[in-house]
Amino acid sequence: MILDDDWVIQMMSDSWGEVLGVGQDELRWRRFTDLLHEVDRQDVADRLGRIGDGLSTVRFSCRIARADGGYVGLAWSVAHDPDHGLFYASAHETAINLSESEARLPDVFLDGLTGLPNRGLFLDRVAHALQRFQRKKSNQFAIIHCGVDRFSVINHSLGNRNGDLLLIEVANLLRRSTRPTDMVARLGGDEFGILLEDVNDATSPLRVIKRVQEKFVLPFQLHEHEVFASLSSGVAMSGEAYGEADLMLRDANMAMRRAKGQGGGGYVLFDRGMHEEAIRRLDLELDLRRALEKEQFETYYQPIMRARDGRLMGFEALVRWNHPERGLISPVAFIPLAEESGLIVHIGRWVLRAACEQMRHWQQAFPRRPALTVSVNLSARQLLHPEILPEIRRTLRETGLSPRHLKLEITESAMMEDADRAIELLTVLKRTRLRLMLDDFGTGYSSLSYLHRLPIDALKVDRSFVMNMHKEDGARSFVETIVSLAHALGREVVCEGVELPEQEALLRQMGVEYVQGFLYSRPVTAAQAEMIILEDQARFGSR
Ligand code: C2E
Ligand code: MG
Ligand code: MG
Repeated sequence: MILDDDWVIQMMSDSWGEVLGVGQDELRWRRFTDLLHEVDRQDVADRLGRIGDGLSTVRFSCRIARADGGYVGLAWSVAHDPDHGLFYASAHETAINLSESEARLPDVFLDGLTGLPNRGLFLDRVAHALQRFQRKKSNQFAIIHCGVDRFSVINHSLGNRNGDLLLIEVANLLRRSTRPTDMVARLGGDEFGILLEDVNDATSPLRVIKRVQEKFVLPFQLHEHEVFASLSSGVAMSGEAYGEADLMLRDANMAMRRAKGQGGGGYVLFDRGMHEEAIRRLDLELDLRRALEKEQFETYYQPIMRARDGRLMGFEALVRWNHPERGLISPVAFIPLAEESGLIVHIGRWVLRAACEQMRHWQQAFPRRPALTVSVNLSARQLLHPEILPEIRRTLRETGLSPRHLKLEITESAMMEDADRAIELLTVLKRTRLRLMLDDFGTGYSSLSYLHRLPIDALKVDRSFVMNMHKEDGARSFVETIVSLAHALGREVVCEGVELPEQEALLRQMGVEYVQGFLYSRPVTAAQAEMIILEDQARFGSR
């Protein structure tokens, strides 16, 4: 649209007729602000008023009236042309079409970004639906909880503005894929809820999900970027057991998490079994807390060798849970839960201290050999913990281990959860002069643009690539590429999961610096690790 100095519409493109359902003549000569939802008017007038004093362009969102009494939410960009005294106003097509009743809702029930009803309003509607259902059992309904897969990765690699646009697009798509009587709400972050009333069984929600998923096949157009995204959904059906809306939403959420866990892009229908599993997890969490108090954790050590000649360079500390009834439990079975519940911070603290103490002890026991290093795994949750830096410093000071002999391993996926913040934190950590490694490299979603900014010393190539290297060209060229990339960036490479001599030979040819895997040793107790040090000493002496 072109507006004059008084914001009166002079000219507009043809598409406005379609968007608002009115002819050009009806809009021409009307004041722009008069077309807006009355709640938005003052704010928009304020923003437009700011043009001129320093600003040449302003951006804002507002709702604009349609001929049928409803409103459409638009994101505007208005530029000033002082020479001609005109304003050029353009709006994104990322419009949410709100029904008349939705547009009349007071702001406290609306989500500011998408214009959709918010979580509070959604829960309120679900509570109503529950009451109707309790009065008459044929009033069945379903709720769908959806989440955009890996949204934080998209948000961090393309920036918040693009992330916001993607959410608006998704909101739009959900709105268009449902009936006007269904409620689509933004529950927070990248999560949306859909309430479908008067359904007979799970086929209706599944049909809605299929319809939505079909639209996710195409990329989303965000400013200058095109991105592919996928949506995970969980469904909960109305049932006797639900006394409160909260509980139903919780179950739909649990089903959605399960869908995400299956790789994303799919859906899961909630069932009782999931509930029982949640209870089992709660029990396990309780056990885990007790294990901390009773010191049931034990650190195992896996040797890391220099690839060139097989010299022992250090150990990776790997935690085990020595459960009184269930025996030795692998970290893959409890670390994810420990992360979710926050217990990882305590477990991690314990492992760090144990590993530093042990390494200091070995250095003193074997003073004539080149100093060994110890690698400790750090989860995302630990990295983001505000006390992490003072804690590492304190542990080094109290155990007497030099920071040069401590390596911290951070998984690539943990890094990418909040890459900018991680870079910041790692840069600060790096000042203590310890070494940083990117663990499980190749399985996360690093954008290469981050890689050279990361203050890391080495990449640890994930064992899934190393494992298949000798029989699959694809895996081999992947490792080869990573090695040259790492070397070009001045980083070293560690390959984990080396089980066969063929693999070792290939890695040596590629110039990989360090290797680790069952070929050399499984993770072992501290006492057994000491035997490995002795053997190495016997073979290489104190060189
Ligand atoms: P990771 O850091 O990538 O550790 C390597 C894992 O690969 C270890 O599994 C190790 O036993 C296994 N592995 C090593 N060589 C081979 C091999 O040749 N073949 C095969 N098949 N596997 C090999 P583990 O000990 O079960 O640990 C699993 C993961 O749990 C670790 O992966 C790490 O991410 C996490 N983890 C272990 N300890 C800790 C800890 O103290 N804190 C945190 N945050 N995470 C930990
Ligand atoms: Mg590791
Ligand atoms: Mg690893």
